[in-house]
Amino acid sequence: MNIQENIDLKQLSTFKIGGKAKYGIYATTIDDVVAGLRFAQEKSLPVGIIGAGCNLLIHDDGIDGLIIKMNTQSLEVHGNQVFAEAGVSLAMMTSFGHKHNLVGLEWAPSVPSSVGGAIRGNAGAFGGETKDLLKQVKIYRQGHILDIDSSDLQFSYRQSSFKQEDNTDIILGGLFELSHGDIELSKTHIKENIITKSHNQPVGVACSGCIFKNYTGLIDDHLYDTYPELSHFVTKGVIPSGYLIEKAGLKGLSVGGIQISDKHSNYMINTGNGTYAEVIELIDRVKKQVYEIFHVMIEEEVVYLHQQMKFR
Ligand SMILES: Cc1cc2nc3c(=O)[nH]c(=O)nc-3n(C[C@H](O)[C@H](O)[C@H](O)COP(=O)(O)OP(=O)(O)OC[C@H]3O[C@@H](n4cnc5c(N)ncnc54)[C@H](O)[C@@H]3O)c2cc1C
Repeated sequence: MNIQENIDLKQLSTFKIGGKAKYGIYATTIDDVVAGLRFAQEKSLPVGIIGAGCNLLIHDDGIDGLIIKMNTQSLEVHGNQVFAEAGVSLAMMTSFGHKHNLVGLEWAPSVPSSVGGAIRGNAGAFGGETKDLLKQVKIYRQGHILDIDSSDLQFSYRQSSFKQEDNTDIILGGLFELSHGDIELSKTHIKENIITKSHNQPVGVACSGCIFKNYTGLIDDHLYDTYPELSHFVTKGVIPSGYLIEKAGLKGLSVGGIQISDKHSNYMINTGNGTYAEVIELIDRVKKQVYEIFHVMIEEEVVYLHQQMKFR
């Protein structure tokens, strides 16, 4: 077991923000995960999990506990089913499927994510979601490794049972049912999706995905006159937070090294030396301004890592 001290968390988040963790382990096997957990139990430390680090906000003061960075990379094929360990990227799982003439994950390579992070947040794009082809999830729960059928779990838009506050499970892998199909056609769809995304969202910059959840509640009727697009969104049941932020006049606004993206207002970009404190200030300003104009309170989608530290 290779537990390290004072590991730099900034490098483990695509936002490139955050202090150090008191302890960390780069887990390349499930045994490493279990060994890390035993270490934490012996020392009574809370444990946090990092997958690909694409949806995290990490405190400048760091983390007092153990971070398990999921680097498990094993992939197996059984007929048309693929089992991927939690640290495998969605892109890697998709191309592994292709090698075995399996398709069905055309949306997935456009989403930067580990399999574990994708299952937890039911990540998705272009009408596809992680839950769609997921058959089983391998988890660590209170000293036991279990295989849970996905039908025994709850999934909805960017939500799963694993996101419930009292859930301490660690996702070790997922079994996905793909289908035999046309690999070249699948690759073409993947390319199209990646190109479409690069037009709509920031690419090649330090960011952490969408900062806010899209809004699904009610909105004052009188706002439809000033913002006619709202009725279209309300019919669909979801108002994009990016729309609310842009209409609140906040596109491009900066606090220190953090800027609301010019391309998509629900993304914040770390332009260099941005800090956690600056992100928080910008989040507060966005929430207040959106509330003033639309009378709705938008909530964070991005995960505060220190709030996810749990005794597992
Ligand atoms: C440029 C960009 C574009 C994006 N586009 C999309 C998009 O189109 N659709 C979309 O859904 N998301 C999108 N995201 C957000 C992000 O890709 C997803 O939320 C992704 O699923 C997060 O997975 P991760 O492995 O990076 O998780 P992390 O960010 O590492 O962790 C997120 C949360 O999951 C927990 N976690 C991670 N792994 C495990 C595990 N094995 N067991 C238990 N808990 C775990 C962490 O503790 C944390 O609470 C985007 C992000 C970026 C940076």
